[in-house]
Amino acid sequence: MSVRKHALRDQVGVEHDRYDVVVVGGGLAGVCAAIAAARAGLRLALVHNRTVLGGNSSSEIRVWVCGATSHGEHHYARETGIMGELFVENQYRNRDGNPYYWDQLLLEKVLAEPGIRLLLGTHVDEVEVEDGDQGRTIVAVGAVMAGSERVFRLEAEQFVDASGDGTVGFLAGARYRTGRESHAEYGEKLAPVEPDDETLGSTILFYVRDAGHPVRYVAPPWAVDIASTSVPTTRYISPAANGCAYWWIELGGDRDVVHDDDQLRLELQGAALGVWDYIKNSGRFDADDLTLEWVGSVPGRREYRRFVGDHTLTEQDILAQAQHSDTVAFGGWSLDLHPRGDLRPGAGLAPRVLGRDLRHPPAGALRPRPREPVGRGP
Ligand SMILES: Cc1cc2nc3c(=O)[nH]c(=O)nc-3n(C[C@H](O)[C@H](O)[C@H](O)COP(=O)(O)OP(=O)(O)OC[C@H]3O[C@@H](n4cnc5c(N)ncnc54)[C@H](O)[C@@H]3O)c2cc1C
Repeated sequence: MSVRKHALRDQVGVEHDRYDVVVVGGGLAGVCAAIAAARAGLRLALVHNRTVLGGNSSSEIRVWVCGATSHGEHHYARETGIMGELFVENQYRNRDGNPYYWDQLLLEKVLAEPGIRLLLGTHVDEVEVEDGDQGRTIVAVGAVMAGSERVFRLEAEQFVDASGDGTVGFLAGARYRTGRESHAEYGEKLAPVEPDDETLGSTILFYVRDAGHPVRYVAPPWAVDIASTSVPTTRYISPAANGCAYWWIELGGDRDVVHDDDQLRLELQGAALGVWDYIKNSGRFDADDLTLEWVGSVPGRREYRRFVGDHTLTEQDILAQAQHSDTVAFGGWSLDLHPRGDLRPGAGLAPRVLGRDLRHPPAGALRPRPREPVGRGP
């Protein structure tokens, strides 16, 4: 008896298309890159594996968008360019910060650009590379729109990996690192003595609302017993708080936040529901009429692969506001160290180390180098 494989790719045929640019990932980095490229007159595909744009900032995850001001530390700073345009429009339409109105605004801005072909619910899982004298070039990516049983091969002159996870660069064989380098490697004061695999973890948030009448809450067995952790004494918990006020519900920094995402989702929901159970049932809060409005089902990730480019952005670059001749952007968020295990008894808090002002990442930090010498393949 012979066993045959029937892949979607073989059964439905592959749809081929060619663009100037393919942007992979429709978080804010990908949305801004796509709009910028379209306004520069380029034809592009924006390929995003969720059905709503915005990544961490979308209604699926609900992370606040807060970089340049660093929560008011940099009084006169704010995002400009396309991000600034989105902020201004959002402030006009959405003063209460409704997450669905933000989704809608991002979609509207992308659809307003005739040069963008938007492929939602489409996951890039293949990369074709060509090794030449000038180095390695990505020629095309392959993607699956699972909900529609469609498969794409998208060729382009340029590819932007805005996946957050660095999936395209990884598949193409770009050099990358994860975890923390030793103090000795770059002379960073905040780095550990020995290198390790620690990263920032992932987070699931929740929203509550007043139901206008008493509402019971019975926690599921997987809800974390928050009273047995350091959280009640170290963290801000309030019946009036929502969403990103609970950024510290974080797990996975001591694991692989991508490979373990499925397991982390359940654990993070357990942690979020544990906090909610503590609010509802510990007797410490006036929360009888409150009910759970929303709890995330997609973990918000903070970091994963860091590609090794011509320049490696260091602690010193950020704290000293180093200027580079090829600066492409600015940012104001602090060095934000989250020790693993915040939800465990006695765990430490996350120190933030503020730079004096904005930092200016150079283009050289954004262009990865191949993992292997050209010709040997990834
Ligand atoms: C709880 C929390 C709080 C935070 N607070 C702050 C803060 O206060 N200030 C700050 O500056 N930053 C903060 N961050 C970090 C900030 O959210 C991220 O730096 C930012 O979202 C990164 O945007 P991005 O577009 O690069 O990635 P993402 O928002 O992760 O978007 C990438 C998108 O690409 C999609 N994708 C991935 N792989 C593929 C694929 N193969 N094919 C197609 N699509 C793909 C993903 O589904 C994802 O939606 C926080 C993060 C979290 C989780």
